[in-house]
Amino acid sequence: MTSPHLPRREFLGLALAGAAVPEGGARYVHPRRVLLWECTRKEFREALEEGRLRVVVLPTGSTEQHNEHLAMIQDTASATLLAQQAALRLYPHVMVATPVPVGISPYWMDRKGTLTLRRETFLAVVYEICESLATHGVRAILILNGHGGNDAPLKESLPEFRQKLGIRLEAHSYWEAYTPAMAKQYLASARIPGHAAEFETSFALAAFPERVRWEGVDYEKVKARLGIKDPKSAAEDELFAREARLATAAKGELLIAIALQWLVGRLRAMMEA
Ligand SMILES: [Zn+2]
Repeated sequence: MTSPHLPRREFLGLALAGAAVPEGGARYVHPRRVLLWECTRKEFREALEEGRLRVVVLPTGSTEQHNEHLAMIQDTASATLLAQQAALRLYPHVMVATPVPVGISPYWMDRKGTLTLRRETFLAVVYEICESLATHGVRAILILNGHGGNDAPLKESLPEFRQKLGIRLEAHSYWEAYTPAMAKQYLASARIPGHAAEFETSFALAAFPERVRWEGVDYEKVKARLGIKDPKSAAEDELFAREARLATAAKGELLIAIALQWLVGRLRAMMEA
């Protein structure tokens, strides 16, 4: 109900001046403020200099096939979403660095669209991002991984990275938040993470439903020409496509909340160390 006689900025100014400050510490933080790549150098420098910024989260993911119905950015988007939500809860002490959007996925190359990096290329990119942050004075980094193929290489490299960088450095895949009991309790398939199955599809339905596209998907019809060479992998692809139909946004919301709580806990521990 903006008055046509009042310029918009003035109207907002008046509205804000008269607004009551909510009690109980509730506040609004623009979601972009916790993303390093959306900050100016001034904002980032001041956060460091004033000691506000304590931990940086570096999401690592993939750009890879996620069966017939999920967008290929799933793993990168999931890790980034959790990192951003956790950083907002811990604002202004945590910031999210630019995600690494391609991972180690050679085993999906027989399915169209997958991009993959060699192990050493991926690790070099991750290391050099951490090195950049350390050069600026960041003393603690949590690598939050969203793609299975990156998990072991990251963890195997941690001792070397830590030694070279001299900072606190951790690497976790976000599904470490879930116990086998949780998978059983919350998912009909009892499978976490699986691949583009019930878990990831539920996550996407809750977090970014526009990336779940069932329209025109007919697995039976395309099955014979998918060209998956390994019979075991072909059978799994089909099983996961079936399990994905069990996904709901409600399951996704619940599982995201669990991962978020877990991640906030890890970050708090790093902040206090
Ligand atoms: Zn995935």
